[in-house]
Amino acid sequence: MDRIRILVVAAGCVCVCLSGLGCAARSSGAPSVVVKRTQMHMGTLVSITAVGESDQAANQAITAGFQEVKRLEQLLSTWIPDSELSRVNAAAGAKPVPVSPDTLNVVRLAMQVAEMTEGAFNIAIGPAVDAWNVSAQPRLPTAGELEALRPLMNLRAVHADVRERTIFLDKAGMRIDVGGIGKGYAADQAVIAMQKAGAAAGVVALSGDIKTFGRLPGGRRFPVAIQHPREEGAILVLVDLQDEAISTAGDYERFFEKDGIRYHHILDPATLQPARGCQSVSVIAKDGVWADGLDTGIFVLGPERGMALVERLDDVEAIIVDQAGRLHVSSGLRNRVRAPSSSGRMGPER
Ligand code: ADP
Ligand code: MG
Repeated sequence: MDRIRILVVAAGCVCVCLSGLGCAARSSGAPSVVVKRTQMHMGTLVSITAVGESDQAANQAITAGFQEVKRLEQLLSTWIPDSELSRVNAAAGAKPVPVSPDTLNVVRLAMQVAEMTEGAFNIAIGPAVDAWNVSAQPRLPTAGELEALRPLMNLRAVHADVRERTIFLDKAGMRIDVGGIGKGYAADQAVIAMQKAGAAAGVVALSGDIKTFGRLPGGRRFPVAIQHPREEGAILVLVDLQDEAISTAGDYERFFEKDGIRYHHILDPATLQPARGCQSVSVIAKDGVWADGLDTGIFVLGPERGMALVERLDDVEAIIVDQAGRLHVSSGLRNRVRAPSSSGRMGPER
């Protein structure tokens, strides 16, 4: 029950605002039917919007998108005992496990994000995430308990072998978890499936991990609202996207408070404590996999080092709210973000 509540809150961190669109009338032969459907996958609400020439065409593309998300969930979810990643984790310290190109790809991309963020992003952090158990039964692990787990989080002990197509974790007890990057990857792949199925434009949103392609009928880009990290339901800023992805990591999605201190689900691999520099980080990139991996990594790096990284990277922009609530917007976004109207509220569709 608690998990559902938490996930519904998480679903509010970024949303696509499609005001007054519904099924538009056909005009000038351009695809102009907009259909949106929502289902529960990867433990979260997945909304897919397609622009097509007909209701049937749009629905076919949406079905293809959902099928792709479901396929990837079967490979990547660590909640599914016989998923590929669960089998890799079960064989830690014992043997390499053959995996599909997608699983290998996600893990290799995650290693690249780890390198780019100097280890702030770490898919082997699972044992520490479990020790905190923020999402289910939160507790404060002792420093000694956390330090004892540290050898299990060494990314050099993760071997993703492209030639053999295997993944091997070389210490028993290690676990990898792509929770910080997998939804962005799934959004990208679902978009590819929708394009193959003939959609002219659309959006795949796995709660806060969103990938857009093309434009809305009439030529509008897809407007996306970013949730205010401290005012539930309020919009922080809006930005229009075309062929871009956005992903938000925040300390307000899954957290508990004890003695006035907020403990949340994004851990700093250096301290094994919840990362303290930011309230929220939204990253815009061409691909969802980069937006999702980098939002988590930049959240850990904090506003200064995180924004410095964003400014070094091509085609990556960010909106960071630091721990004091100050807004930092990367140079390439300053002319693109806009403030909400005074009544701006988040919602599934407005
Ligand atoms: P979500 O949208 O599910 O909140 P995020 O992109 O914000 O996803 O990533 C949070 C998840 O990433 C956590 O639930 C945890 O499983 C994992 N995680 C926590 N800390 C780190 C880290 N430093 N590096 C990589 N993954 C992490
Ligand atoms: Mg992420």
